[in-house]
Amino acid sequence: RKSMISENTRKSAELFEKAGEVIPGGVTAHIKHIAPHPLVMEKAKGSKLYDVDGNAYIDYLLSYGALIHGHGHERVYQAVMNQMQTDGTTIFGTPHQLEITMAEKLIDLYPGIDMVRYTNSGLEATLLAIRTAMAYTGKTKLAKFEGHYHGGYDQVLLSVNPDLGQAGDKGAPKAVPESSGIPEYYVENTIMLPFNDLENSERILREHQDDISGLILEPVQGGFIPAKQEFMDGIRRITEELGIVLIFDEVKTGFRLGLGGAQEVYGIEPDLTALGKVLGGGFPVGAIGGKRDFMMTTAVDDSRDILTAGADNTNKKQSVFHSGTYNGHPTVLAAGLATIEVLEQQGTMDELFKKTQDLRNKLETVYRKHGLTMQTVGMKSIFNIILTDTPIYNYRAMDQHDANLRKEIDYELLKLGIYTKPMNRYSMSTVHTEEDIQRTIDAHNEAIRRVLNN
Ligand code: PMP
Repeated sequence: RKSMISENTRKSAELFEKAGEVIPGGVTAHIKHIAPHPLVMEKAKGSKLYDVDGNAYIDYLLSYGALIHGHGHERVYQAVMNQMQTDGTTIFGTPHQLEITMAEKLIDLYPGIDMVRYTNSGLEATLLAIRTAMAYTGKTKLAKFEGHYHGGYDQVLLSVNPDLGQAGDKGAPKAVPESSGIPEYYVENTIMLPFNDLENSERILREHQDDISGLILEPVQGGFIPAKQEFMDGIRRITEELGIVLIFDEVKTGFRLGLGGAQEVYGIEPDLTALGKVLGGGFPVGAIGGKRDFMMTTAVDDSRDILTAGADNTNKKQSVFHSGTYNGHPTVLAAGLATIEVLEQQGTMDELFKKTQDLRNKLETVYRKHGLTMQTVGMKSIFNIILTDTPIYNYRAMDQHDANLRKEIDYELLKLGIYTKPMNRYSMSTVHTEEDIQRTIDAHNEAIRRVLNN
């Protein structure tokens, strides 16, 4: 049955068909689509997902990395229940203590963070960071790297996975929209740079230095392709010299490379930082943090407040507008704080990193045993399986990777109870067990055997 992933995913296929009648494409986010149908989940616990057909999966997607303690962690649940019971509400709609507690925590952990504002997603956090950079510098262009994702909005949904036919030379990539409906304005006002290529990045930044407000980047592209240290050092030096606001998008790397994110690992202080995912303990969240000087552009300007301003406020300087009904949501912050507290327990992070490295080593052994060219690429608690021995340092290098073979193996893995969305990276959690790792290795062994015998 070509219309199903396997004989055992019939209900998922049926539900996907039903969903398609009321939800365009049958999914609520493009990224959730899997052909011929996604697997529809019904329960989860710890490192496992269970689908509507009763199949169990070891989860390496972990909601795109958000669930660093797996599903239904006791401490996180308790914190959520306590918040609602103690406060007597899910949300005050006013300032409250947890906003300060979490801000103090982030300031303590992240070298580049002196102040914090909350959002409801990573997308909103990068958006606010970019607006802040533009307000701060008074300039209107944004520099970003080819292959880097910062959320699905017009300003940054450019050259995330560009068709190499349209994307220009690798040393001077072009901005290519990743969706229809993106106004030409953003193509014209985005300066695209080649990741991990300092020489060309520097040349392009200098060429456009008068117009560039900020440079946004993922310190580890897609969560698995690390920036080279010299590259990051160079980018910090050049942006500082040119007065370009340096924004680290740590939505993925935050709490996953270490408690202080990529900025701690690389020893570099960005001007602004976007956080999300792990920060919300599985609830929708985002935050922007940064140096006081930059962050204060988002402060409420009393002179413009209708309660305190005089009649004539027309010539007053406007601050960056930032609002949101759910910003700093108490339940979300309670879940996030509990998540961070568990991560802070002695040895927890090191154990997570060791476990991830162990899985990577064992996977490399299995693939090589079958005579496949393979490397794992990643950092700390996230990695990907790449079927080429070409060094992977940016988007372009990925075209050497045998994507078809990888896809075939991933589909077999789904049938064998390993959940990675085909072609996606692997995120580890603190609750994956030795047994999970062994079962994962056995499943890869079997998946490769099936694919190679076909
Ligand atoms: N930036 C990065 C680096 C991300 O990985 C993501 C989400 N995958 C986002 C921003 C957007 O975050 P969200 O999905 O919470 O809007």
